[in-house]
Amino acid sequence: MDITPDSGLEEFRSEVVEFLDTAPTPEILEAGRKTTSVFAPFEQVMAWHRILHTRGWSAPDWPEEYGGPGWSVEQRYIFATEYQKRGLPPLLPNGLKMVGPLLMELGSPEQKDRYLPGILSGEDYWTQGYSEPAAGSDLASLSCSAVADGDDYILNGSKIWTTYAHHANRMFMLVRTSNEGPKQAGITFLLLDRMDYPGMEVRPIIGLDGAPEQCEVFFTDVRVPQSGRVGAENDGWAVSKQLLKHERGGGAQSPMLRHRLDVVREAAAQTPSAFGGFLADDAAFQRDLGELEAEVSSLEHFEKLAISGHPMVKDRAYPSLNKILSTELTQRISTLMTDVVGLDALPDQRDALSVGSDTEPLGDDLSLIAMPYYLNSRATTIYAGTNEVQRDLIARTQRP
Ligand SMILES: Cc1cc2nc3c(=O)[nH]c(=O)nc-3n(C[C@H](O)[C@H](O)[C@H](O)COP(=O)(O)OP(=O)(O)OC[C@H]3O[C@@H](n4cnc5c(N)ncnc54)[C@H](O)[C@@H]3O)c2cc1C
Repeated sequence: MDITPDSGLEEFRSEVVEFLDTAPTPEILEAGRKTTSVFAPFEQVMAWHRILHTRGWSAPDWPEEYGGPGWSVEQRYIFATEYQKRGLPPLLPNGLKMVGPLLMELGSPEQKDRYLPGILSGEDYWTQGYSEPAAGSDLASLSCSAVADGDDYILNGSKIWTTYAHHANRMFMLVRTSNEGPKQAGITFLLLDRMDYPGMEVRPIIGLDGAPEQCEVFFTDVRVPQSGRVGAENDGWAVSKQLLKHERGGGAQSPMLRHRLDVVREAAAQTPSAFGGFLADDAAFQRDLGELEAEVSSLEHFEKLAISGHPMVKDRAYPSLNKILSTELTQRISTLMTDVVGLDALPDQRDALSVGSDTEPLGDDLSLIAMPYYLNSRATTIYAGTNEVQRDLIARTQRP
């Protein structure tokens, strides 16, 4: 992939820069500065999604036939880099990176027509209902049941850790449709076109960082149409594995990680060191920053290979490798961020962190986000399949 200044892409870059410098509203920029998770503040990120959609740029990775802009891999990388450089809120992944691509591959023509436009435009937000209290890593143990009744299923049971379910208007989920045979053989993949079915209840969970990002969802005799099923009944395990491939390997994380490192470096240049001068001059800080920069560069190289479709990343180990590298780097960068901010990371600033708040933050933007970002990023090695389990999966791909 060639994106050097003489690769003929400078005109494209200028067009992207011009748009990204002018289109976001002050609230969207504020949401970007206050994003401490993969999930940006809901209202503002969806407003930004809709603005990008009117420009035709909400889904850079989607094929043109489904509304993607038809960019080359180089153009997509330039867009991602310029986007992250400005600290803009990342669009929410569940629709664009997970259920959207899945429907393109496995959805019926009616499901594609019905659901893809709302994902592309940002009218809909989909929450992911996979995990249950006793079915996380061992997902095949899930027990939320769907019993066929006429054209419907009747759902009973619960889901947990469903991110932003309290904002969602749609849900994709796994349900148990049979208890016969191996546990993987009785699972079905289902799309719910509403979150307000009678008998459905969403309860937010307050996370370590004090924010209600995840939820529990309870189902008591909830009647939903069978037309939401993707693939055959009891074939949901294969469908869900296809979706997990997008969840773990989808998109480039390195531009965002590089942006975070740039912010840390700039802050260290202004932060007095206990030994005189500034933190940026401190040898231990330079070593930590240098190591992280080198590792982000290697992840970047790896991701460029991936989005160019290099055969190496077609290996079954790739999504797991990508997940481990990007999430562990996220955590280490968040630690360096708190090192730079020091004691200023300690005050609880939840009021100042909400977008539009008139509570003045104590200290600068970095002081405001360092601790919530650090706490939130503890979860990166847990969700989308824990890193321990990813290591097991990689080991299994190496068996003769
Ligand atoms: C912030 C956050 C957001 C999430 N968002 C969603 C969401 O939107 N939708 C959704 O459906 N789920 C979501 N999840 C759930 C997430 O996918 C599960 O938490 C995850 O799969 C781990 O399951 P568990 O929590 O039950 O842990 P467990 O499976 O109980 O694991 C506990 C520990 O045991 C280890 N372990 C378990 N099995 C093995 C093994 N075979 N080999 C080695 N080690 C093992 C694990 O690595 C872990 O360290 C989210 C979780 C978090 C924390």
